[in-house]
Amino acid sequence: MLLKKRERPIEMRKLESLEGRITLNADYTRQLHQMRLGYAGECQFDCMAEELDDYVIRINDFILARQQLCQIDSIFISEQKIYLLDIKNWSKTYTLNRGGFESLHNDPLDQLKRARKIFINMLESHGIRLPVEARLVFINPEIVLYGMDANLPIILPQQIPDYFNKIRHSSGPITKWEEQIAKKILAQHTDENPYRLQVPYSTESVQPGILCSTCRILMTEKSHKFLCCPKCLETESKAHAVRRSEQELLLLFPDSRPYIHKLYKWCGEMVSKQSLHSLKSK
Ligand SMILES: [Zn+2]
Repeated sequence: MLLKKRERPIEMRKLESLEGRITLNADYTRQLHQMRLGYAGECQFDCMAEELDDYVIRINDFILARQQLCQIDSIFISEQKIYLLDIKNWSKTYTLNRGGFESLHNDPLDQLKRARKIFINMLESHGIRLPVEARLVFINPEIVLYGMDANLPIILPQQIPDYFNKIRHSSGPITKWEEQIAKKILAQHTDENPYRLQVPYSTESVQPGILCSTCRILMTEKSHKFLCCPKCLETESKAHAVRRSEQELLLLFPDSRPYIHKLYKWCGEMVSKQSLHSLKSK
């Protein structure tokens, strides 16, 4: 049973909306690439995890802000155990040494250990006494891990089906009791993350206009009702392009109500105010 679904991360959506509108430096471009990869891996994992929906309650993208912040990609709650899963879409070669990742500044195993500790403290403060199993799950079959030890809390891509089987066999059907526990846990989730990536931008620094969703360059008018990307030649109805651009405006400047004049300017004056009025009233 899915209790909290995964959303596209807000910092990723913001960076995507800014792409082509401000100059994103190499660091932001790299981070956007990483976020897209990470999100794609998590979604792939979610699809696989659907097969467990009769046995566990799933909570995705859980953030717990106690004295320290703890972020967990996926939580499974069963009658026997709570599973904390950190999903990585890594495809390179890494070496494990003395139970940790060699030459990584932020060792994901350390982070996982810390997250488990914070999570257990939270459970205890709510009187929930269930064992907690934390695992680092690698989803990309291209990953190579040298020095992999069976005792490490790591699940490799080829081990995921077996791991799910183990969870299925040790869990009974979902009961009201687990639902109550899952709701108690979910109530501790916060959307506030002080470590969220902050990109500096302002109304002055952000270029308006309707941009191609793929190439992030200005689209041109093709006909009365359609726009076209001069690079990939993709055509899009003005109605769809306006809705897409309006979402970007509201995401980047949530305080600015989408007045028709503002939207008109934001869309680079490519769609008449009259057309915007009729689109908005639909
Ligand atoms: Zn394009």
